[in-house]
Amino acid sequence: MALSGIQIYKMLPQTNCKECGFPTCLAFAMKLAAKQVELSTCPYVSEASKAQLAESSAPPIRLVTLKGIGTEVKVGNEVCLFRHEKTFYNKTGLFVRVKSSQSDIAATVAKAEAFKVGYVGMDFSVDGFTVEADEPSKFADAVKAVRSASKRPLILISKDPAVLSAGLASLAGETPLLVGADASNWEALADLAKTSKAALAVSADSLEELAALTEKIKAKGVDDLVLIPGGKTMGESLAKSTQIRRLALKNFRALGFPILTFPGDAGSAMRESLFAAQAVTKYAGFVVLNEFNPELMYALLVLRENIYTDPQKPIQVTPGLYDINNPKPESPVLVTTNFSITYFSVANEVESSGLPARLLVVDADGMSVLTAWAAGKFDAERIAKAVKSFDIESKISKKRIVIPGHVAVLSGELEEELPGWEIRVGPREAVDLPAFMKQALN
Ligand code: SF4
Repeated sequence: MALSGIQIYKMLPQTNCKECGFPTCLAFAMKLAAKQVELSTCPYVSEASKAQLAESSAPPIRLVTLKGIGTEVKVGNEVCLFRHEKTFYNKTGLFVRVKSSQSDIAATVAKAEAFKVGYVGMDFSVDGFTVEADEPSKFADAVKAVRSASKRPLILISKDPAVLSAGLASLAGETPLLVGADASNWEALADLAKTSKAALAVSADSLEELAALTEKIKAKGVDDLVLIPGGKTMGESLAKSTQIRRLALKNFRALGFPILTFPGDAGSAMRESLFAAQAVTKYAGFVVLNEFNPELMYALLVLRENIYTDPQKPIQVTPGLYDINNPKPESPVLVTTNFSITYFSVANEVESSGLPARLLVVDADGMSVLTAWAAGKFDAERIAKAVKSFDIESKISKKRIVIPGHVAVLSGELEEELPGWEIRVGPREAVDLPAFMKQALN
């Protein structure tokens, strides 16, 4: 049963020493009740209180960390059903499957490993690889082949503990995820997960059976569990994933674990794409794709980024003066805000045009141009302050700046804030900037 912040506060030392980073014990207690801090952050909790608080302070969905060689993927620790209620914390791990019968494992993995793409200033890549023992005698060599091409965390699939053991032999010091435990073999696989310090994925036909299995496996001392609820259709899978998340958030500990899905089991590549997108948005901790497809991977990575960013914190770039295409003193100065998507829209259009320019990025609390203007975060005063603080005048030969067309209304005020400057109103859309620069700024 979850405790309220006040109930937790009564068990804290109440000295307000601030060592936890919060101004008071009550503030810390409120954060603990919201599952946004670890109890261990306070060094002064008594052993008796720790025991009482353990249940309440544990996250409703266990954090499971898979480790490769110097790499790791964390999933779980989520605290809400809908992203806008708070935020989703640990992004779905996207894994690519190879099978032990394949002859080109190292080359396949190397190709996926080399996949690196950028999106609004962030670099994306595959999270890890899954090795399935469809030909058990080749499993150990298949794991070695994957390891020869990637250091990322691994998921190993087999129902046979001996086969999994052979694969684990080349993963000393790592924390892979073992997949294959069900009602028929859970004891042997739980023993193997415990001795090898691996996480263990468990499958069952119903949520009741799944919950019963996790309780038995936890009693054997394996805590890092992952659920495979399955589902013959996308609808059934969605229903099961949603029920698991709802029950976990109500502190039903037997289902308080991340979910693993195999969208490729749905059939065609098209269905795999749809299923994978559903899994990313609705509660999957791990998604294993049948094969590496760069187009699908990119779409899922972008989708994931949009789901797992804090809706209360826009993605921002650092305010400043950015050179594009080696500008000269006479090159124009364009103004925009520090909302990432706005910045990259403008920067990409100008960069691909080949025209030299300077882009003045004004601190607008990470909002887009119109939103920031409406909120009073992008006005003549802020723009003028940025012009002065980044010392633009020393870098240019012509005192002229171009403001976005959406805020043409600011031009008069800006003339007053920046006497001696020519204020030009640019186009409303970034896509029209190159034509504007060619035609209006010569
Ligand atoms: S460290 Fe502990 S005792 Fe100190 S303020 Fe934080 S909760 Fe209170």
